Amino acid sequence: MPPAVSERPTRITVDLDNLSHNLRAIRAHVGVPVMGIVKANAYGHGLVPVALHLQAQGVEQLGVAFVEEGIALRRAGITAPVLVLGGIFGPQVAQFIAHDLEITVSSLDKLRQVEAAAEAMGRKAVIHLKIDTGMERIGVHSYSSKSFVEAAVASKWCVLKGIYSHLACSDDPSSDMTGKQVERFHDACAHIERLGAPMPLRHLANSGGVLHFPQTWLDMVRPGIVLYGVLPDPASQCTIDVKPAMSLRSQVVYFKVVKAGNPVSYGATWRSDHDTRVVTVPIGYGDGFPRSLSSRGSVLIRGHRYPIVGRVCMDQFMVDIGGDSAFNEDDVVLIGEQGGDAIRAEDVATLAGTIPYEILVGLNDRIPREYRGG
Ligand SMILES: *Cc1c(COP(=O)(O)O)cnc(C)c1O
Repeated sequence: MPPAVSERPTRITVDLDNLSHNLRAIRAHVGVPVMGIVKANAYGHGLVPVALHLQAQGVEQLGVAFVEEGIALRRAGITAPVLVLGGIFGPQVAQFIAHDLEITVSSLDKLRQVEAAAEAMGRKAVIHLKIDTGMERIGVHSYSSKSFVEAAVASKWCVLKGIYSHLACSDDPSSDMTGKQVERFHDACAHIERLGAPMPLRHLANSGGVLHFPQTWLDMVRPGIVLYGVLPDPASQCTIDVKPAMSLRSQVVYFKVVKAGNPVSYGATWRSDHDTRVVTVPIGYGDGFPRSLSSRGSVLIRGHRYPIVGRVCMDQFMVDIGGDSAFNEDDVVLIGEQGGDAIRAEDVATLAGTIPYEILVGLNDRIPREYRGG
C-alpha cells in the first residue's frame, strides 16, 4: 500500500473535535441558536469539510458571504439553512432561490428585485432584512427603516425569516459603539412590533458580540473567528474556553552552516556575526504565509522556538537554529503546538502587523488540508 501522505509535507491540520468543542462552548455561553460563519473557505479551514462537520454537530444555520459559496455548499449536499450575508446583485437572485439560499435584503430596491424574481419563478424567497446601525457598509439606516420594514412585512413573495445588523466595534469590550448599535437595532425591530406582525429572528452578534456583549445575543448569534478558536483582536477578552482548530506545519527541507557575515535571502537584509546553522522551510508568501514575517516571525522545531531570518520568499524561508541540530524532514510548526510551546494565529498576526482573520483566510489552496477527529 502506498504511504498515506498528502501531496506536500507542508499542511494545514484541522482538528474537528476542537471545532465541536468550540461550538458547544459558544452555545453554552449564549444559550441561543448559532449561525456558523463559513465564508472565505471557512476562514481558511476548508468550506465544505467544516460545513459538513458543523451540520453534523447540529448547527442551526450557516452563513457565507457570496452566493457562489452558498451554491458550493448545496452542491456538496449541505441541507442546513444557509444565509448569504453579502449584498446582492439583481441578476443573481434567481440563483439564490433555485439553490434554496436565504437572501440578505439591504434596500427597498433590492426587496423589489427579490420579489420580482420570486414571482417569476413562482417560488417564495426567504429573506433577512439588513439594518445599518453604524457600520455604514450595507443595509438600510435604522433611522429610515420604517417604510423598508413595512414593505418587507407586506411582501407576498418574500418570507421574512430574519432581521439583522452588524457590529463595528465589538472586538473591544470597552467601546461604547456596541450599546448604541443595540439601541438602534431595537428601534428598527420596533417597527415590526407596531405592525403587529410576527417578529422574525433578530441577530446581531459576531464573535466580539458573543465574547463581550450579552445584550447582542438576541435570537441567534453569528460567530466566525471564535468558532475556529481564535480571538478577533488583541483587545478581546477570552470569556469562552475555545481551542484553535487549525495548525500549520511544514518540514525542514535543507540544512547548512552560514558563515559569519554572509547575508541570507533576497535583499541581503540579515546576517549573523558568527557562523550559524540555518535551515530552509518550504512554504512562503505564495501559500499566504506573510512576507511581513521576514526576520520577525518564529517557528518551532524539535520543541524549540527559532527566528525566521531574512526575507520570506514565495515558496521558502530560512530559520536560524544557532548551534542546535535539526535534520531534513524534522517537523516545523508555524501555527500550533510542539514540545509544550505554542504559536497562535493571534501571535503571527501581531508580528505581521495585521489581524488573525487575514492570516487564517490568507492561507490558500496550495496548502493541503487534513482533518482529524470528528
Ligand atoms: C463575517 C461576518 C460575521 C462573523 O464575524 P466574526 O468576527 O468572524 O465572528 C458575522 N456577521 C457578518 C454579517 C459577517 O460578515
